[in-house]
Amino acid sequence: MNFTDNKIKRTESAKLFEEAKQYFPGGVNSPVRAFKSVSGPPLFIKKGAGCRITDEDDNTFIDFCCSWGPLILGHNHPSIKKLVMETAENGLSFGTPNRMGNLLGKLITENNRYIDKIRFVSSGTEAVMSAIRLARGVTQKSKVIKFEGCYHGHVDSLLVKAGSGLATFGVSTSAGIPESFARETIVLPLNDRKLLDETLQKHADDIACIIVEPIPANNGLLIQDRSFLEYLRIKCHDYGVLLIFDEVISGFRVGFEGAAGYYDIQPDIITYGKIIGGGMPVGAYGASNEIMAHIAPDGPVYQAGTLSANPVAMAAGYAALQEVLQPGFYEEMAQKTADFTKHIQAYCDQKGYELSIPHIGSIFWLAFTKNRILRADQIDPADMEKFKVLHHELLQRGVYLGPSGYEVGFVSAAHTPEDLTEAAEKIKEALDVVF
Ligand SMILES: *Cc1c(COP(=O)(O)O)cnc(C)c1O
Repeated sequence: MNFTDNKIKRTESAKLFEEAKQYFPGGVNSPVRAFKSVSGPPLFIKKGAGCRITDEDDNTFIDFCCSWGPLILGHNHPSIKKLVMETAENGLSFGTPNRMGNLLGKLITENNRYIDKIRFVSSGTEAVMSAIRLARGVTQKSKVIKFEGCYHGHVDSLLVKAGSGLATFGVSTSAGIPESFARETIVLPLNDRKLLDETLQKHADDIACIIVEPIPANNGLLIQDRSFLEYLRIKCHDYGVLLIFDEVISGFRVGFEGAAGYYDIQPDIITYGKIIGGGMPVGAYGASNEIMAHIAPDGPVYQAGTLSANPVAMAAGYAALQEVLQPGFYEEMAQKTADFTKHIQAYCDQKGYELSIPHIGSIFWLAFTKNRILRADQIDPADMEKFKVLHHELLQRGVYLGPSGYEVGFVSAAHTPEDLTEAAEKIKEALDVVF
């Protein structure tokens, strides 16, 4: 490995990680945090402010992970903190309806043309799981089509990949998932209309829904052509299949109305998470009045949650979403991100480095190829060795990326053009080590 020497101290993080291993499997509470695909022990972060985080060894980094997406306003945003503290003064949870839930529900539904009603849950996984149940309840069918390279949380029937041969039923990617569950899922490659047609022709009578990340951002950033998403919309309509947009990342990220608004495509059900909670555990799913009428207590599809829509979580989401509704918010985020990626791209082109930076809104991904990547299988796993070097070199220089080359980066409102120029300079230096 051609790393430069470790300049930053990771003594405290290393010590805490050793301790954490006694309590948690692999020392973590979510697997990718363990730094398995990059070097050294994971950093234990003790605080964040704006676009920067500080670890237990007092190293500070410009952060592009941003808690994996929720922190569109950056760390410790004053208006979120204020409303959360004020709300917490009165208690954390009652398990009853509360005014703060109404405020957030109203803010979202009044500013989103693609859903009439919403139901709050406590994570993206829970949102997706509930949306799938809703689709099955509405259509009275059972199978689900998903796409290779899209992640939908750790829902049993969605932790699957394509079996051998094309358009076969899925095989699980995790132990503990009965084969019978995996068989309820059909996995297709993205951007393949022919295979989609064949699958729908053969199985439409059993297919409840197609679920897609309209902006696939969990396995690299596989930005699709609008026409493919439009094709899904038309085919779902033709075959009586519901279309679910999993907008846990793209929702409130590429615009207040997420990818549905960005592409102006009306899905049947939309799932949200991450940004919607302003940094607290919140997920949600929404749809038309007609579809949402199937949810209990109005309808027969059961779904519940002890801490769902608790006032403190609602307050964090409400404070965050008020900010993103300010005029020009998304335009500015997209412009900053485009300038940032252009700066790095120009350097790579001049140096002849094999790198491109797909980006949309304030999401970007460092791809170690010049080719446009539309499908998961077009990513060369060998590129991850390059990412490992890049990640290490960036930590040395005070820039924090999510600890895997398959992860996208997020620019927040707190990243100023100066911060982004500083980060770009450091990324250029690190790329000089990689190439
Ligand atoms: C993060 C994510 C999920 C899962 O959300 P959790 O809150 O981690 O359960 C689901 N779908 C997509 C598209 C995501 O990015």
